[in-house]
Amino acid sequence: MVKRNSNIDKTLKNLSLNKEAPKSAFILLVLLYTITSFLTTRTSVMQGSMAIGDQMIRYNSFAGVFSMLGYICIICLVMLFRRVGYIVSMAAIILQFPLMIFNIFVRGNLHSLPGLFSSVLIIGAISIIHFNYKKVLNYQQSIREQAVTDRITGLPNRFACNELLTDLQRRGEPFVLVSVDLNDFKSINDTMGHDTGDQVLKEVARRWKDLANSLSTETVDFVARNSGDEFMLVISEFESKDAIEKTIDAYRAALEKKITIDDCDYYLTACFGYSLFPEDSDVIENIYLFSDAALHEVKKTGSGSRVMRFAPDVLNTERSLEIERKIRSALSSDKIFFHLQPQYDINHNLRGFEALARMKDDDGSMISPADFIPIAEKTGLVDRIDMRVFELAVEFLAKVSKETENDVMMSVNVSVRHLMKNNFINDIKQVLKYHEISPERIEIEITESIMIDSAEKALQRINEIKAMGMKVAIDDFGTGYSSLSYLNNFPSDLLKIDKAFIDQMSLSESSKQYVAMIISIGHILHLKVISEGVESADQVDILKNIGCDYIQGFVWGKPMPPEEAGKLVGSIKK
Ligand code: C2E
Ligand code: MG
Ligand code: MG
Repeated sequence: MVKRNSNIDKTLKNLSLNKEAPKSAFILLVLLYTITSFLTTRTSVMQGSMAIGDQMIRYNSFAGVFSMLGYICIICLVMLFRRVGYIVSMAAIILQFPLMIFNIFVRGNLHSLPGLFSSVLIIGAISIIHFNYKKVLNYQQSIREQAVTDRITGLPNRFACNELLTDLQRRGEPFVLVSVDLNDFKSINDTMGHDTGDQVLKEVARRWKDLANSLSTETVDFVARNSGDEFMLVISEFESKDAIEKTIDAYRAALEKKITIDDCDYYLTACFGYSLFPEDSDVIENIYLFSDAALHEVKKTGSGSRVMRFAPDVLNTERSLEIERKIRSALSSDKIFFHLQPQYDINHNLRGFEALARMKDDDGSMISPADFIPIAEKTGLVDRIDMRVFELAVEFLAKVSKETENDVMMSVNVSVRHLMKNNFINDIKQVLKYHEISPERIEIEITESIMIDSAEKALQRINEIKAMGMKVAIDDFGTGYSSLSYLNNFPSDLLKIDKAFIDQMSLSESSKQYVAMIISIGHILHLKVISEGVESADQVDILKNIGCDYIQGFVWGKPMPPEEAGKLVGSIKK
């Protein structure tokens, strides 16, 4: 495979060049100039005149208009096509000279005299334009070069890298973007000072630039400095994935050779994270994001040089970290809030609400609890969320009780982590006492799968909850594998049938029978049964027929802000 000329300086120069106007504009301007020159010559010798309105205009007076048009074409050529435009324009004007001189001096036709003068003047004008414009362009060029060059290392910067990637994308060429981060570079800066740090960066840059320019790898490479100790490597024209790793390895080896500055030796290592265009994504922003994500992932594990390609689960870790940060900031700035979803009995009388945690993203959009609750569980933040929602929900109960004198129920979700904390019961008691809410109005929802995993430990705590007078619901029932004996021993009050079963119910008779069976078992065990995620009137009808006690679902009410829920309670006649 023949490699494209990949000299970094040349690539940088090309990237920093002002883009020329298209060739078609050049042809059009030359053609226009030729036509206007011909028309100038023709009209200048034409006798007679034409009538415009009640005025007679002589034909030869149009010669001035055409010659002006011609000069405009010449000026455009010089400005748009610089050197080439200037040479072509000069040639076109000078070529007319012999004919004009012949006309004036041999044929004695003095009509060509003004043409000769204006040609000399336009030559002067375009020469001034060309040479001055060239200065401006050179100046612009140097500004553009500075804008794409990193000041310390002289390498292309992130902007230049971006231009290159856009160029490769436009040409449909696959490439690899490698994000590189030097390990422990900060300690060189801290212990030896920033001047030494800069010299180390320069040396790294020199080695990598030489390597890229030497064409000794199997690929075409481009190195840029991002910021601080972060670099970017763009690898293109690779024949196999092996070639990519070999190239990265060559850069790693070049870096790891001893660097000596002011008689001190430094041994550097780096981490490399990369992603492939268009295989991983055909959007450049994503390619940046993905290679950075791979880099962060690889940096998390151990020391020394390591290389990693982007994989989607890397992004999950990144996303998890991002969500964890958001949860922490929402908790510390009191931005966790709640919505309330109404629960009704089968005759559509309000039973109460389920309190559901809510959190907003920085842009104001909602982050689903399905995304942030599992992360909060993993990171141990869920008990703080649970507690916050509990406080808000009890505060709500106190407010509506005072305003409406209706004693609706409140179901709250509790994670097993929270449930098992030593101060769980105490914390809850305090909140209830503060707001003067009776525990009988609180229902603690515990998901079935959690109940199975931690049944032994949880049982004692659940007994304490029951002893206080609170109710216990088994949430998402049917998704775990609880045995009848578990259910029998578990001191719960309510079974919440998971939405998945309700969805299936109208599709087949057996699914309907299955839900009917769960309801029967619940009733045999003296439990009430609520169906979750009920979305249609048909489902309500079926549930009514098979003896379901309560309904929670979009059909009768979506989760709503507390103000709306308060109005709903207020609308009930006592
Ligand atoms: P969950 O406890 O089973 O809550 C019911 C979920 O189903 C809610 O989702 C609710 O909006 C949704 N839902 C209810 N009716 C319908 C319906 O008709 N159609 C559809 N498509 N969805 C319906 P949400 O609010 O997204 O909550 C998801 C899960 O997050 C909850 O499931 C619960 O497990 C957890 N969660 C929410 N808030 C908290 C909290 O404060 N603490 C803890 N530990 N977990 C919470
Ligand atoms: Mg729930
Ligand atoms: Mg549920």
